[in-house]
Amino acid sequence: MSTDISTKFIVEEAKESRIHEVDFDTLLFGKEFTDHMFECDFIDGKWQTPTIRPYQPILVDPSLKVFHYGQAVFEGMKAYKDDAGQVWMFRPDQNQIRINKSAKRLAMPEFPKDWFFEALNRLLVLDDAWIRKGKGNVVYIRPFIIATEPAIMAAPSTQYKFMIILSPVKSYFRGDVSVVFAEHYSRSADGGVGAAKAAGNYAGQFYPTNLAKEMGYQQVIWTDSNEHKYLEEAGTMNAFFRINDVLITAPTSDRILDGVTRKTVIDVARREGIPVEVRKITVAEVVAAAKEGSLKEIFGAGTAVVISPVKSFSYQGVDYPINKPEKSYADLFKELITDIQYNIVEDPFGWRYKVSADNY
Ligand SMILES: *Cc1c(COP(=O)(O)O)cnc(C)c1O
Repeated sequence: MSTDISTKFIVEEAKESRIHEVDFDTLLFGKEFTDHMFECDFIDGKWQTPTIRPYQPILVDPSLKVFHYGQAVFEGMKAYKDDAGQVWMFRPDQNQIRINKSAKRLAMPEFPKDWFFEALNRLLVLDDAWIRKGKGNVVYIRPFIIATEPAIMAAPSTQYKFMIILSPVKSYFRGDVSVVFAEHYSRSADGGVGAAKAAGNYAGQFYPTNLAKEMGYQQVIWTDSNEHKYLEEAGTMNAFFRINDVLITAPTSDRILDGVTRKTVIDVARREGIPVEVRKITVAEVVAAAKEGSLKEIFGAGTAVVISPVKSFSYQGVDYPINKPEKSYADLFKELITDIQYNIVEDPFGWRYKVSADNY
């Protein structure tokens, strides 16, 4: 694939900001969008001129391949503003690498790294007013690629659209969740697309998650598709288990997404001197630990909520409560990670990325 990186961005600024129409105190996740969006089309084997324009609907043909064959991948990132008004991202290099891995798995073209970063920097500088200071305020960043060839032939699309949209969100205290360990349905399988951030992975989870919700649980912890014996992912997050003081999480595989928050938790835990085991963990082991009282915590880790503690799990119709210790790892990691994200503490890992007009 050839890409002319010297191509200049086209930037069409919004005439008027819509920010005054938005009530920042009652934001629902992902419902409001900032003034600008990024768009770049892949046509004739080449990414065309990268463009920023006012946020608006896109007019498309009903035959687009994305509607029929689900060729779509995405990312989820965030931008944070510190007390001095500087905007930061957190480990965006990881998302850049991952969207291209996901694209490759779905037979889609990779998007150039330099444009990915230029688009992010330009958008966040233009929509700076939408990023409010302080912990809890954040702009969620959604890069995605869809197949845009207007043809219903079942073959990879010859055209694609890469876009980035930004949504201001506020994190509320949601409370701890109760979950079900999957015994029948699976999120992904060996050799499948579970390791890619493919849109269809989410579609496949909605129905079993609804069944869990009808029974009064909020989420499903996915198990391996072969035997439903190993605990793998928590809803749309990576899953962590604390037995006594040991933190355990499954190794990444075809079935498990390589989460940025997961990697971050592992590194932060090790720095804190917490024993971490990256290994397969069985349902039987967790049930036994819950029975004998050594299961101290379960939590999910992902960009959207950072850490989501689990207060109970259900397996084979039995509910097992988890008595979260006063000094929980979940609270500790959430604080340590968000403090780095909001530039409140030193960043010994070099994870923060400074957003600036100097970057383009
Ligand atoms: C996005 C995602 C995660 C979390 O990844 P982060 O990089 O930490 O946001 C975990 N599991 C699945 C299935 C995901 O799609």
